[in-house]
Amino acid sequence: MSTFPISYIEPVFRPPSEAHSLILPVTNGCSWNRCTFCEMYVQPQKKFRARDEEQVLEEIRRCGERMIVQRVFLADGDALVLPTRRLLTILEQIRKHMPDVERVSSYCLPRNLRKKSVEELKELADAGLKMAYIGAESGDDEVLARVNKGETYESTLSALDKLRQAGITRSVMILNGLGGTALSEKHAVNSARLMNQAQPEYLSTLVVSFPGGEARFREGFADFEALDRQALFAEIQTLLEALELKDTVFRSDHASNYLVLKGVLGQDKSALLAQVRQAIESPERAPLRQEWQRGL
Ligand code: SF4
Repeated sequence: MSTFPISYIEPVFRPPSEAHSLILPVTNGCSWNRCTFCEMYVQPQKKFRARDEEQVLEEIRRCGERMIVQRVFLADGDALVLPTRRLLTILEQIRKHMPDVERVSSYCLPRNLRKKSVEELKELADAGLKMAYIGAESGDDEVLARVNKGETYESTLSALDKLRQAGITRSVMILNGLGGTALSEKHAVNSARLMNQAQPEYLSTLVVSFPGGEARFREGFADFEALDRQALFAEIQTLLEALELKDTVFRSDHASNYLVLKGVLGQDKSALLAQVRQAIESPERAPLRQEWQRGL
């Protein structure tokens, strides 16, 4: 029998930057679970439910007895769907039993925050919730509708604004290629517009991919034509050109990307654009990942 204090229902996902965090599931799966590009929680054992509160609190106590923890990631797909009171209890117990914890973070769906006020989010921030990862995917309403995201430009912006007002650091993901060839331009332009309004602290891009096949995705997007590698770069170029960010850490270093980009926007905008231009104009000279290097 495993002696690790937390019982996981596999698979469990976390952002790359949470590699050294204690992953603490407070829910199982994703309460929405309808985005047609997402296969994270499609297995039956990942059907959404809140985990038993007593079990979670017991796991926090037992982790506190056995290890020194500095970062905690609340799993699964949208821990912030839980009521504020319940989240506060979890955060208070983390603080009590793991006093070295400096940061608690979680994924966040914009819909999780519709009924939460800025004051409630401030309470959560004061109790230790320092960072939220938001899969905006796109700022274009047509793309969002085609992939059944269940969100819009406005709903995503509203959530990002609330988090900002509460002092919670925002890390936003945009999916490169999500609109296919037909919607690529407006996907890039409207995603940049959304980011310009929201001014997130972190922004990353991932390349859309379908390791389990495209059938589910094509139900809502029958005429989807995937972008080839060069078109993916062109879309990133359009996005970067339109971004007017003041102080945002930008990353496209997820395993799905062909071209690794890292910088701070706006100061590194022209350097990043120069890298993308080189990948478009002279791919043989650019440091690109080969297909086998992309860990999908
Ligand atoms: S909200 Fe996130 S976790 Fe849930 S189905 Fe969509 S992409 Fe997947």
